[in-house]
Amino acid sequence: MSLRTSAKRSRPPKRSSSQHFAIVGAGIAGVACARTLVQAGHRVTVFEWNAQPGGRMVSDATPFGSFDSGAQYFTVRDPRFKRVLQTTPELCRPWSANAVRVLDAHGRLAEAALPQLEPHFVSQPGMNALVAHWAKPLGDSLLTGVQVTQIERDALDATRWQLRTEADDGAVHVHSGFDAVLLATPPNPARRLLGEHSPQLKEQLAPVKVSPCWTLMIAFPNATQPTLAHLGPQWNAARSTHHRVAWLARESSKPGRQMVERWTLQASADWSQEHLHDDAPRVEAKLLRAFAEITGIRAEPAYAQTRCWPEAQTMVPAGKPHLWDAKARIGAAGDWCTGHRVEEAFLSGLSLALAVH
Ligand SMILES: Cc1cc2nc3c(=O)[nH]c(=O)nc-3n(C[C@H](O)[C@H](O)[C@H](O)COP(=O)(O)OP(=O)(O)OC[C@H]3O[C@@H](n4cnc5c(N)ncnc54)[C@H](O)[C@@H]3O)c2cc1C
Repeated sequence: MSLRTSAKRSRPPKRSSSQHFAIVGAGIAGVACARTLVQAGHRVTVFEWNAQPGGRMVSDATPFGSFDSGAQYFTVRDPRFKRVLQTTPELCRPWSANAVRVLDAHGRLAEAALPQLEPHFVSQPGMNALVAHWAKPLGDSLLTGVQVTQIERDALDATRWQLRTEADDGAVHVHSGFDAVLLATPPNPARRLLGEHSPQLKEQLAPVKVSPCWTLMIAFPNATQPTLAHLGPQWNAARSTHHRVAWLARESSKPGRQMVERWTLQASADWSQEHLHDDAPRVEAKLLRAFAEITGIRAEPAYAQTRCWPEAQTMVPAGKPHLWDAKARIGAAGDWCTGHRVEEAFLSGLSLALAVH
């Protein structure tokens, strides 16, 4: 018997069916994507800058109760989103759907303009509860308090990716060996991290525009006494055409929340853009004046806090459910792919996972 050697042409390295994905961002898009990939037998490492998953679905804790400072509620239009929510019914509650009002510029009810309303849902006890629950099975694969500062080709294997990160305590790390990188952040961090790695994604991201949002959170703890229980208007949520204010909601009216009278007010996109670089006390004073004009509540709140979201709402979406460059093996997902809502972010994360799988 003779042993023969034959010259074989070198082939590109074959990827095993189970791959290791780096996912940047643990908002609902990143977590939906990560869960789907894990369920399909892949390995993921999810990097999240904040201390908790949830992204713009967040509840800020205060001594007077929590405020949903980002997303106020979500809609459920797509059967895939509905099916997933049905697995955790205890976390998802309908919220005063038919009480949302439309106000004119002076805070008066715009009689003719009441829209056809669809059910509105909140997660309880806070808006972050849903994503936090879905993220639990990720265990140690979810790294929080870690900002991804750069993505680059793996130093040991140029077919793979490595990520540079900086932790809250300033510790810098390089995480290597990823078969693909999936960016589940708002568009600007995605653009920064993408750099020149994928001209295709860069081009698809270029037209996407998002607007900022200044948010004011105020509490009136004395109003919990029975006589003052309904301080101000008899509605719980309203869209407004006041030049400063787009949305107001009584946080205490949401299911599973504390009873202290609390309001969240979101400034309009134009006003937020115009005042993006103002300091917080100045914004607070202006939004408080607008709140008094609209609701008639002129009492001094015991608690007031503002928060600025530099990338709150999509104005121009990418127009595709997800972005994926199969050659570079980089993808992107988020609400901005098709819209500006929680549900769209979920569907985008799901769509990216199915595409890369
Ligand atoms: C004020 C406001 C009001 C809203 N109201 C509603 C509403 O009523 N109804 C509705 O449906 N939607 C609403 N939205 C939109 C909704 O919140 C979003 O559509 C949805 O939460 C987006 O999810 P996402 O996963 O795409 O992104 P995000 O939730 O933004 O998640 C992205 C994550 O990426 C992380 N990240 C970013 N850069 C890095 C990095 N370099 N390294 C590591 N991590 C990083 C961020 O910390 C964040 O956690 C509102 C948003 C805001 C801000």
